Amino acid sequence: MALPTPDTLVPGDRLGVLRNITTADGATGDLAVVEGTVSTAVDDLAGTSGVDATGWMSLPPLADMHAHIDKAYTWEMAGRPAGSLEDAVACWQRFGARLTEEQITTHARRALMAALRAGVTTMRTHVNFHEGVDPLRGLRAVVALRAEFSGLVDLQVVAMHGHLHEDDLIREAISRGADLLGGAPHLSPDPIAEMDRTIALAEEAGIGVDLHTDETLDPHSLDIVHLSRITAHWPADRTRSAGHCVSLAVQQPEALTEVLATAAAAGLSIITNPLTNLYLQGWENPVSTPRAIPPLRAIREAGIALAAGGDNVQDPFNPLGNGDMVDVAAALVIAGHLSPAEAWQVSSAGRSLLGLRPAAGEHGDVADMVLVRASSIAEALAERAPDRVVVREGRVVATRRLSTATVDIDTHAPKEITV
Ligand SMILES: [Zn+2]
Repeated sequence: MALPTPDTLVPGDRLGVLRNITTADGATGDLAVVEGTVSTAVDDLAGTSGVDATGWMSLPPLADMHAHIDKAYTWEMAGRPAGSLEDAVACWQRFGARLTEEQITTHARRALMAALRAGVTTMRTHVNFHEGVDPLRGLRAVVALRAEFSGLVDLQVVAMHGHLHEDDLIREAISRGADLLGGAPHLSPDPIAEMDRTIALAEEAGIGVDLHTDETLDPHSLDIVHLSRITAHWPADRTRSAGHCVSLAVQQPEALTEVLATAAAAGLSIITNPLTNLYLQGWENPVSTPRAIPPLRAIREAGIALAAGGDNVQDPFNPLGNGDMVDVAAALVIAGHLSPAEAWQVSSAGRSLLGLRPAAGEHGDVADMVLVRASSIAEALAERAPDRVVVREGRVVATRRLSTATVDIDTHAPKEITV
């Protein structure tokens, strides 16, 4: 009897043995799931049952390490704005007070579902201190969703204050469940003082930070150096992440080497957000428009943990984000010049920043994976892997499938396409 295939899997199914599946290294063989863990032991692979995964790959699940789900799907509501980071920030300041907690919950839940069905099982989202009265309404909404998506998407919440917010409000955000402190010090009049304040508050609470860092093409903006120095003494497992780091893209080689060595020695991690920075930067340069993506290979070669984020989902900062890290990984290849395999690795690397068990498909790894119908990572990225099965601890938690059909030109009857 023919074995079932990944096409027939539905959420709730538990995987046994995946037959003839291709893994990230390009090898094809059998892979077993035993009590939520990957096994390649001969005994576990014995027998002839399981799922026939011919033509499918098992890849590490994706990790969106820089999201803003509290702002998602607001581009239309905000009046379809266009423009730079400064334009988007100004738009948000005009518009954001209108956003209610209920709207934030609806938008953020939709963004989490978009991520989950795409194969994102780990996410770090920043949450604004929202405009208008009750600035912590976004945080409350997202903290509630963190519980709602427990077991599906491991969600880490970053409370992102502005320089005008009082210390006590920031302390309240921490007490209400923020995992990390954030902020965008380069947007404040005194970035150094703002970073010092954030770090002091994080130390007081014993939590880590993830700051929007140097999101500008001004080469003089190197807040990453100060952030490295003031967190270098932290315990190794306390998060200090620098998001964006756009100005690294415009450093002279010697300066870049020095900055990266300082960041590496401090245990800093860098989160790149190629889609948003391709969109937000460079408006002032209509010719020779810069890409605004930091030097990814140099960052990795310096020994710095590099992860990636989708950043904005159809909001004033990027009208076209969609929560799918496969699009981000594709951009890391096209605009960031990583290989497809490197791009997938960077796009799934975030789970290690959360201290989660490895999910690389190796023997003993947790059986979290995304199955894609493709013969290589390059094909998966090129075609955006339309067919995916998302698996956590060996159990299918989400599926998405592309269905195509056309018409028979003579009979006018629908015609299935098989390729
Ligand atoms: Zn951001």
